[in-house]
Amino acid sequence: MIRIYTALQRYDAYLVADRLNQAGIKSHVFNQHASSIVGDVPPDVGQPQVWIERECDLERAQIVLRDIASAGSAKADVLCGRCGEPSPANFDLCWNCGAQL
Ligand SMILES: [Zn+2]
Repeated sequence: MIRIYTALQRYDAYLVADRLNQAGIKSHVFNQHASSIVGDVPPDVGQPQVWIERECDLERAQIVLRDIASAGSAKADVLCGRCGEPSPANFDLCWNCGAQL
């Protein structure tokens, strides 16, 4: 077993594990209920972690992780310069105040 990813949020860990399993890479989420102890232990011990079963999947797993990261940043919200509300990246105008994004 190899730890491939440490998530900040539980849903984030499950997203990664789902994608890995879809890609045929057997993976597991650990520490999913441990976030309440963050603060008492070093953060990476208390955070949800994604582990893969087989070392030979490591390279492919890293590619899947990279794909998830780039898809996430492509969809990142744009913050309005006028009112500060986040709008989807494909919006030209702020949904809230109509300012050019
Ligand atoms: Zn705005």
